[in-house]
Amino acid sequence: MICPKCSSDTRVIDSRPHEDDSGVIRRRRECVACGHRFVTQEGTINIAGMRAKRRRAQAAYLARLDPAVKAARVAASNLRRDAKTEAGETGRPLVEVLRAWNLPPAASSSQRSPA
Ligand SMILES: [Zn+2]
Repeated sequence: MICPKCSSDTRVIDSRPHEDDSGVIRRRRECVACGHRFVTQEGTINIAGMRAKRRRAQAAYLARLDPAVKAARVAASNLRRDAKTEAGETGRPLVEVLRAWNLPPAASSSQRSPA
């Protein structure tokens, strides 16, 4: 670990599990050059679990969505797909095709899934 103040090497003064018993390790560190003391935490991240949670949230969001809004999203998505096909077939840049079709250059916020 590098010192956040002077970027020198640091040493661990103390290392112990977090009070809440979450599997997180807390380490008190001290910079060997400037003496700055700070705390770091080390833990694991369950990426598969985070993805599963996100998929569930997305499915729940889509289930709550008004059918008319959902249909509009599908229509917009199909238009963008067709614009991409046209761009690929004609060799024109996608932004140019989107502009010609009066579509926004990037996916609008209504087409993004919830975080
Ligand atoms: Zn330092």
